[in-house]
Amino acid sequence: MLFQNIYYISEDFKAVKGFVGTEGARITYLGENAPTAPESFGRAVDGRGRLLIPGLYNAHSHTSMGLLRGYGENMTLQDWLTKKIFPFEDQLTDEDVYWSTMLCSLEMLRFGIVSTTDMYMHALPIAEAFRDSGVKANSAICATVPSGAAYVGSVRHQEALSVIRDFHGMDDGRILIDLALHAEYTTSERLVREVAEEAARLGKCRMQIHVSETASEVEGCRERHNGKSPVEYLKDCGLFDIPTTAAHCVHLSPADIAILKEKGVTVATCPKSNLKLASGVCPVQELLDAGVNVALATDSVSSNNNLNMLGEMQLFALLHKGISGDPTRISPKEALYAATRAGALSQGREDAGIIREGNRADLVMLDITGAHWQPVHDLMNNLVYSADGGDILMTVVDGKVCYENGEWPGLDSEKIFAEVERSRQRILKALA
Ligand SMILES: [Zn+2]
Repeated sequence: MLFQNIYYISEDFKAVKGFVGTEGARITYLGENAPTAPESFGRAVDGRGRLLIPGLYNAHSHTSMGLLRGYGENMTLQDWLTKKIFPFEDQLTDEDVYWSTMLCSLEMLRFGIVSTTDMYMHALPIAEAFRDSGVKANSAICATVPSGAAYVGSVRHQEALSVIRDFHGMDDGRILIDLALHAEYTTSERLVREVAEEAARLGKCRMQIHVSETASEVEGCRERHNGKSPVEYLKDCGLFDIPTTAAHCVHLSPADIAILKEKGVTVATCPKSNLKLASGVCPVQELLDAGVNVALATDSVSSNNNLNMLGEMQLFALLHKGISGDPTRISPKEALYAATRAGALSQGREDAGIIREGNRADLVMLDITGAHWQPVHDLMNNLVYSADGGDILMTVVDGKVCYENGEWPGLDSEKIFAEVERSRQRILKALA
């Protein structure tokens, strides 16, 4: 494809005008002027009134929880989990999970998310849904075993090995399989150590885990593990020797932040989910000051309640100004970096998250002709403070158009909505 006369975000996160060409899965041309043989790029896209940004990376989510959107609201995290989420999840079949992941994939593509870091059980139908939907994913299989039981040799472990064998690296690396632990408070020390060892043995899977989401989680961890915080405990178990994405990290000590930096852990911050569940606010400025990779994430739609990453980016930028009383915090560049490049790096995708020649052609095109985009003093300011998810016209993943003008080429959105509704009704009947 060749995007002509279009504003795009350059690798130093400035809006510049020019031509962006893609061939196969890669960006192969960037320039102020047209390439010498424009017709060799195939489809030409008129870029007037358009802005091309790097594909958005969601650094923490549970797409299989799409079915739970709007199901449990206005509750504490513990009540929400034990009274609503866990009973509903007990009813989920592989088929439900497949359609839920398809639903969230439609939503991701519609909101410019080209890749998601995803954690759940039911590894096989999730991997199949990501394969079918066209979205990229680091799809993690949550290691769960009965309390105190061994992981290696368990059903979950066997499942993980087979999904890793069949899906890891599929479609030129579009699908990657990670391992995951839900959290310190839902796992035994034996399990954490075994999963860390198994990830090291496999040598190709990254790690995902929820860390220090609430104050009571940190307090409980200190009681259970000789005064150690979740970060200290997980480090001592060897978990952070595997490249890890730690979701939330709301309640951190200075010692925790130093460990996250030392071990190269990415913090996936989920501002909207943390606000909704009243968990607190992640100390993002302190993490950035320490040099920690901070990537932006939505968490699941049951605690967000959508996958609108531009909205998340705006909230992220505003929240840290408001909470600190310092309006210079989180510049537009830092906000966009957290929503793009930081997430790509957290997924081990070095050649993505930035519009650069040779990088993956992960691109999102926005309509910038709306009243809320006028006038233009600085497109980066408008992108972070004025843009709306509804401005997204096209999402391109590895050079393929996966969403354009309300349609998902190759995907049957009506069937997906219908299957999701069928699952919802069946589960509600079973719970009644
Ligand atoms: Zn989560």
